[in-house]
Amino acid sequence: MREGSDAVSNAISEGPKPRVRIAPSPTGDPHVGTAYIALFNYVFARKTGGTFVLRIEDTDQERYTAGSEAAIFEALHWLGLQWDEGPDVGGPRGPYRQSERLPLYREQVAVLLAKGEAYRCFCTRDRLDEVRKQQLADKSPVLGYDGHCRAVDPADAVRRAEAGEAHVVRLRVPREGVTSFVDHLRSEPIVFENRLVDDQVLLKSDGFPTYHLANVVDDHFMGITHVIRGEEWITSTPKHVLLYRAFGWEAPAFYHLGLLRNADKSKLSKRKNPVSVFHYRDLGYLPETMLNFMANLGFSLGAEVERFTVAQMIEHFDWSKVSVGGPVFDPAKLESFNADDIRAMSVDQLYERLQERVLAPARIKAMLAQAQERVHRLDDFIPYLSFFFGGSVDYAPVRDKLKPVSGKSGKETAELLDTYAQEIERDNAARSFTAPALEAFSREFCQRHAVKPKELFMLLRLAVTGRTASPSLFDTMAICGKDRCRTRIRDVVVYLRTLA
Ligand code: GLU
Repeated sequence: MREGSDAVSNAISEGPKPRVRIAPSPTGDPHVGTAYIALFNYVFARKTGGTFVLRIEDTDQERYTAGSEAAIFEALHWLGLQWDEGPDVGGPRGPYRQSERLPLYREQVAVLLAKGEAYRCFCTRDRLDEVRKQQLADKSPVLGYDGHCRAVDPADAVRRAEAGEAHVVRLRVPREGVTSFVDHLRSEPIVFENRLVDDQVLLKSDGFPTYHLANVVDDHFMGITHVIRGEEWITSTPKHVLLYRAFGWEAPAFYHLGLLRNADKSKLSKRKNPVSVFHYRDLGYLPETMLNFMANLGFSLGAEVERFTVAQMIEHFDWSKVSVGGPVFDPAKLESFNADDIRAMSVDQLYERLQERVLAPARIKAMLAQAQERVHRLDDFIPYLSFFFGGSVDYAPVRDKLKPVSGKSGKETAELLDTYAQEIERDNAARSFTAPALEAFSREFCQRHAVKPKELFMLLRLAVTGRTASPSLFDTMAICGKDRCRTRIRDVVVYLRTLA
């Protein structure tokens, strides 16, 4: 561990070049929180002449969703946050995907076992449940593993493991004393009692590492000097510090940034705000505005500077200018920044920007293919295509058609549509968001929820286009894009909830 915050702040201009990283898990659409953390890592690396690493933490097989690694690359590229080392660009400390580093974790666990810093645990799920139940009943201040297998003779444990008995490997956390670490964004050191720290699992019974083990091993072997991550990981840091100690490694310097919040100060959540970077991209926010907005959330150049650029942030970067007090991600403010930036462009620039995405030729051609059969004059095209653009649509003309499906109340229909919106976000088949994938998924959804396709599809059509008649529903949805569809479906969910 390093000594105090000053020593580390000075690292901005002195000492070996910092190596920082982001370590997202590919579990869904790239979150604005990931982009926010990436921005600070990127800025710090650029300020110090250091290296910005992208590592993919993909060892949690249950939460993994196909395509989301590519989505992370795409989102960060869109924002212009280029990394120096990563799975796609390579680098001297690779591989940069945890799933390609499994032998290393096993090797390092063997080191801890040999040192007696870790032990094999053969407890069954049932026993662990029993222990937990008892701890809750006793209102025990210490929840977690009771250390039952600490006493198993190591030679015996090896024999049992070799005989194929299912087991995990746990860290032998000291039972006494305290451990502390410095978070360089907070004035007081963070002190914790060791007895309150669980003997965390390092290697699961399937041989995969846990987040804690893989994260620490990788940060060490990738030479990470500064861990700059979100505050939600601060409760994991004691475990990491104990692990560094068990290995006998120097821990990196820790900086936990404040979590992005909704306007009501609750943790930014998709219930209240769109959180996917792609939502903002697809609805026509400018990438540089988005970055600039995020920079302005957690960094300040003094009260008199209302807005600054990322280049200015790099120029003036200093940890003392970073605030940790729950930055509010206010979409209205982002929108006003975006409007300012659009206003500041020349018409030529604007025209160019429109052609990049909104009026990209391939996108326009896909729309024209849908509209060709339905318009009579060239001049009709633009008004006909209007629902392919913009965020929410006006439901006033079709209000009386927005009604519950047969056999369900308004609220139940709202929940059904809400589930649909959540599933198109999660479902791997629909991830690519193509018309055939959407159609197959939607038909299966109707079957599963015992709802007539005709009725659900009409509701979807109304939600996505605001019209009773439109081109093929699934082509329309595919061209509109996932985020636009989801936003509109959610608008209808909110309306249906108000119906009996
Ligand atoms: N895989 C973690 C995540 O999804 C990494 C957290 C960290 O930076 O240590 O954000």
